[in-house]
Order: sequence, then structure tokens, then C-alpha cells
Amino acid sequence: MPTLHERALGAYLGLAVGDALGATVEFMTAREIAIVHGVHREITGGGWLRLRPGQITDDTQMCLALGTAILAHSEWNLGAVADAFVEWMHGRPVDIGNTCRRGIRRYLRDGSLEAPPSDHEAGNGAAMRNLPVVIVNVADEPAMLARSLAQARITHHNAASDEATLTLARMTRTLLLGGSLADCSHLAEDLVARHPRFRFRPYPKRTSGFIVDTMQTVLDAFFHSDSFEDCLVLAVNRGGDADTIGALVGQLAGALHGVDAIPARWLARLDPAIHRAVREQTDALLRHGGQPC
Ligand code: MN
Ligand code: MN
Repeated sequence: MPTLHERALGAYLGLAVGDALGATVEFMTAREIAIVHGVHREITGGGWLRLRPGQITDDTQMCLALGTAILAHSEWNLGAVADAFVEWMHGRPVDIGNTCRRGIRRYLRDGSLEAPPSDHEAGNGAAMRNLPVVIVNVADEPAMLARSLAQARITHHNAASDEATLTLARMTRTLLLGGSLADCSHLAEDLVARHPRFRFRPYPKRTSGFIVDTMQTVLDAFFHSDSFEDCLVLAVNRGGDADTIGALVGQLAGALHGVDAIPARWLARLDPAIHRAVREQTDALLRHGGQPC
């Protein structure tokens, strides 16, 4: 059984390798991927962003920004989180979602820490960056849920985004604490029971950046494969928002199987500075949350 530390590291490095693996095929269809790559299973860079092999994108970068803001203050500080997103955006990131950009600009304009409610701004930008909140608050579920929602709403104030962010947080926390796939399955079923639009069986085969599509793809891959590698390969070969799908399924599969289940060839390819930053931040977040590591 992996330890909490091995699971947390598995989740965070899983997210980063999923981002790096998926980015190559982001916005391609499954058919196009099959024609160009056969099965895409190596971290090669390229893609529409013309990445270096092992380079990561906004998914991992926003996590690191959020984690850095958490660690800079002894208490939870939402303003510091928003400031970290500003600093990240001003660093000219390789990619940024529209809703994220709009939300960060609104904060810059009026200082407000919550986007106005929106029925249509239901991208996956809030859910994809939430892992540091889960790790640091692993011992305190109510705090984890409240803070997940608060960071999400800096840019995304939408019921589907909220539900997905909170469900992923609950699932990831359950796995970090040693929970099983069956425990996660209950949480996913609970989401579908309350919000049937998230139903993922039979798999609807939609992979846009719409959070409902993303969740369905992530949950289908997570519950239908039994190794870390198979899970990520299945997920990113669906195409669409493949880096974010890869990141989120990497987060779950890494939390379930632990860091030792991540293929060594993928970790070796990951940008070394990012690899180091993720390891250091994972340790620091666990310590910050009062956990041994
Ligand atoms: Mn991305
Ligand atoms: Mn993406």
C-alpha cells in the first residue's frame, strides 16, 4: 500500500505527466490521433503549442501558482491565490483558457475574488488547478471543500464547474487517505445521481473543454483501466482537451496507485525544473497541512 506521501506525489506528478503527454494531441479527434500516432503513448512534445518534449502547460502551471500562494501564508489567503494567478498570466504562459483570462482580468480591474454566476462559462479551468488545495487540506474535509470552491470561483462561477471541482477533490482526498476504487465509484455515482448530465456510462465520447465532457472522459478512463499507464493512454487518445483530461486522470490514477506506478520513461521526460518543483511543493503542502512526509 502506498503511503500518503507516495499517493500525493503520485497525484501531482501524475497530473504533470498527463498534461505533458496529452498536450501533444490536444484538440485532435480520436480518429486523427489514430492516423497520425497509432496509439499515442510517449511524451514527445509538439502539438498545436509546439512544445518541447516534457514541457507542461497551464494545467500544471496554475496548480504550481496556487500551491505557491498557499505556502506563502500561514493561513488560507484567497487574495494571495488571485495575485498568484495574475503573476502567472503576466508571465506570458504558453496557453490560458478564456474563462481563466477573463476572471483574472476582472480581479485586476475591481479586486473582486468571485466571478459573477454564469450558465455558460463551464470550462475545466477551475477543476484542473485544484490539487494543491486537496493536498494541503487532506486532514480537514470541510476546509478542503470550502477552499476548493473559493479558488474555483475566482474565475469560474458555474454549477457544473463547482460540482466537478468538489467531486474531484473528494475522490482525490479519499484516494490520498488510502481509499479504494470502489470508494471513488460511490462518489462518482453520487455526482451522477444528483446531476444526471454527468452520466458517463455508456461513455458519450465527447472531449471538449466543457467540464461535463471532461468529467465523463476522466471518469470513464479512470474506472476502466487498472494501471496508471493504461489509464492515461486511454484518456489522452480520446483527443479533444487531451492535456486537461490527461492531467485530471493522472491526478486520480497517481493518487490511487502511488508515484512508483508512473512509468519511469515518462518521469525521465518531464521537464526537470517542473519535476523538482512538483516534488518540493508536494512535500511542502503536506508539511503545511500538518502531515508527515
Ligand atoms: Mn493546458
Ligand atoms: Mn487543455
